Amino acid sequence: MNHDFSALKSACETCTGCPLHETRNHVVFGVGNPDAELLFIGEAPGENEDLQGEPFVGRAGQLLDLYLNGIGLDRKENIYIANILKCRPPKNRDPKPEETKACLPWLRELVKIMRPKIIVCVGRISAQVIISPEFRVTKEHGVFFERNGTLLMGTFHPAALLRDPRRKGDAFEDFLKLQDKIKELGIRI
Ligand code: SF4
Repeated sequence: MNHDFSALKSACETCTGCPLHETRNHVVFGVGNPDAELLFIGEAPGENEDLQGEPFVGRAGQLLDLYLNGIGLDRKENIYIANILKCRPPKNRDPKPEETKACLPWLRELVKIMRPKIIVCVGRISAQVIISPEFRVTKEHGVFFERNGTLLMGTFHPAALLRDPRRKGDAFEDFLKLQDKIKELGIRI
């Protein structure tokens, strides 16, 4: 494993950069292969994630895995999954702007180390932080935006799909578009 990645992860695991460190059980740095060319970014750990120290576990995580596996991706092998916030906001409330600001440097460093070819923003909050504050997931899901040589795409959060299953087909189409892009760019998976 990349030395810079290990050092970054270890440093993050003792972070006290915002008040969320006081209530967390685990810092949820991420899961997957840090040498991958695909980076998925969610919002923040929920209750199960905080308890287990891994992003996207529970029912929402299972749905994400279903979509990933459907296009030949595996969370442990050929992608990396992280969140905007590494520590759980109490009662799963939205991240506060000051928490996002305090935590983003960890993600920026991860991106510098990984240099992913594609970043997939999982859910509105991630897309609004990474792609644009005006991002509308219902209108712009599945659209690729180019920034500094990296493609950015936003899709629905699996927890939102569990609440509104009518969007599941749209979400899987986003993954199929991702699969096409992976082939087009010759991305290593
Ligand atoms: S949420 Fe981010 S900035 Fe806040 S304590 Fe956790 S790792 Fe540090």
